[in-house]
Order: sequence, then structure tokens, then C-alpha cells
Amino acid sequence: MTFPGARLLEGGAMAAEIRTAVAEDVASFTATQGRPPGLRVVIIGKDAPSTVYLERILRGCAKVGIDAGFVELEGEATEAKVTATVRALNDDPSVDGVIVQMPLPGTIRLRAVIDAIDPAKDIDGIHPLNAGLLRLGYDGFLPATAHAAVEILRRSAIEIEGRDAVVIGRSAVVGMPAAFLLVREDATVTVCHRRTRDLAGHVRRADIVVVAAGHPGLVTGAMLKPGAVVVDVGINVVDGRIVGDVDFESAREVASAITPVPGGVGPLTNALLLTHLIRAAERQAAERQASRQPAVTGGDR
Ligand code: NAD
Repeated sequence: MTFPGARLLEGGAMAAEIRTAVAEDVASFTATQGRPPGLRVVIIGKDAPSTVYLERILRGCAKVGIDAGFVELEGEATEAKVTATVRALNDDPSVDGVIVQMPLPGTIRLRAVIDAIDPAKDIDGIHPLNAGLLRLGYDGFLPATAHAAVEILRRSAIEIEGRDAVVIGRSAVVGMPAAFLLVREDATVTVCHRRTRDLAGHVRRADIVVVAAGHPGLVTGAMLKPGAVVVDVGINVVDGRIVGDVDFESAREVASAITPVPGGVGPLTNALLLTHLIRAAERQAAERQASRQPAVTGGDR
């Protein structure tokens, strides 16, 4: 069986739909709380490659009425300075979500920074508490990229339950959470990584292939099972162009559906992050409200 020209799973329209809903939620939050929801992104050194990506997130926030901004630290900032900055944002009641730019400079321990983030403001799901909630199947904040990788399948009405899925990449922020989410959706999941022997053999058996390796051209059409669904999370710059981890031209001849790069998982990731922020803002507002209620005391002890 051949699938000439796979269906394109595009994230742009999905993202637009999400942003419209978020804008309404933001307006009602702003009306009831007297301030917009707030996001702060801590960046360490202005020249880091992820700054462009973060600027795009901030522009997306501004469009829906979120008060979003950078907190800039010197490239030489110490770990103590970074964690103190994060804690100050935790304590700021006008800030509902905190993101720290990754990757961190080599002098700063990732774990120290992750631990400093208040789990209630951890809208990209990197704190161990949120990672643990995901692992146990409870409701916490999901890493937005992993969330988008699975949400793009759900919103495209692609069946996940009972299907064989391969996730390539086992990072704490993308590969592993995507694998846990697919398990939660009742897929049978294999996680592949740099030390996997016979990657092609695993991919060949998969109905769904999620690729998050940071390696352009890692998955080709020749490796895929005919009719497989391919979610390409990779973002790489090759000859000045942004490409994913999948050789798109050969893969689209064999797959039944495939996400383009750019225009697939990326736009959905940014839109889902906004939904995480409004959820964080609403939850914290509800908690503040509850803590202001007089304690029920009384009678029947
Ligand atoms: P990472 O470097 O932390 O992890 C990469 C993983 O891929 C590792 O587990 C590694 O073992 C595996 N891997 C690498 N080369 C491999 C190979 N040849 N064969 C098998 N496994 C291999 O990267 P990350 O932070 O998880 O990001 C993965 C990709 O996703 C990158 O391209 C990154 O730019 C992209 N990304 C996209 C978004 C988005 O919104 N679409 C967001 C974050 C990251």
C-alpha cells in the first residue's frame, strides 16, 4: 500500500483557535482580578540562541492581553543570582508563570534552577513535582513541546489507543514526557535514544513516530512503515533554513500523515503554553481567594 502525499498536520490553525479561546479567558481574568495574567522569562545573556524563540512567545502573549516580559541577567550571572531572581518572581503576586531560558550557561546547575521554580508557576512543566504528576497520571503542568506533540495527534483525530508508538529522544523536557503522554493515551510506547541499537528496526514497526532528537534527516521514508503517522519535533538550522529531524520529502511518500517543520508542532507549542499560563493564573487566584475566606470554626468538635 502506498500513501502518495501524506496528510499535513499543521499546527497554525489549531494554534489560532487556541489563542482565540485564551484571549477570552485572559479578558475575563483581567476583569475579575483587576490585572492581566503575568509571565516572566528569565534570560541569562542576551545573545543566547533561544532568545529569538522566547521573543516570539512574548509577542504571542502580548497579542492575547498577557503581561509578558523578560528579566535579563548578565551572561556571567552566578547560580545564586539566577535562583534568587526566580524566587523573587515566585513571590511576586502579579507574576503567574515563570520560564527560565534554556540551555543554561555551563556554570549553573540545571537542577538548582528547576528546584527554585514554584511548581504553581512552572508553566513549562520542568519542576520535579510537575514531572512526577505527569508520570503518575495526575494533573500538573506539562512540558509544552511534549504536550503539543501529542495534542497535534488528538486534534487531527488520529487514533492513538492501542497503536505502536516510537519516541526518538529521551530528554526530560521533550522525549520522556511525550512518551508518558502517549502511554496515558493507551499507546504501546518504545523510547529510542543515542544508544539504541537498530533504530530503523524500531521505527519500522511503529504506527506513530515522534522524533525529538535534534538531528536533521535522522528518520527517512525508507525507515517508516507505510501509513505511519510522523510527528517531527526537531528544530535544526541547515544552510540557513529551519528543518526538522525527519527527511520530509522521502517520509511524506510513505507516511499517512506528517507534521511539517516549520508549521507543525512549533506553533501549537507556543499556543499551549498560553493555556498553561492562564490555568496557572486562575488556579493561583482561586487559592488566594480561598485563603482569604474566614476559616470555618465551630461548634461540633
Ligand atoms: P536533547 O539534546 O536534550 O535530547 C535529544 C535526545 O535525542 C537524546 O535523548 C538523545 O539520546 C536522542 N538522540 C540524539 N541523536 C540521536 C540519534 N542519532 N539516534 C537516536 N536518538 C538520538 O534535545 P531536546 O531538548 O529533547 O530537543 C529535541 C529536539 O526538539 C531538538 O531539535 C530541539 O530543537 C527540538 N525542540 C523543539 C521544540 C518545539 O517547540 N518544536 C521545543 C523544544 C525543543
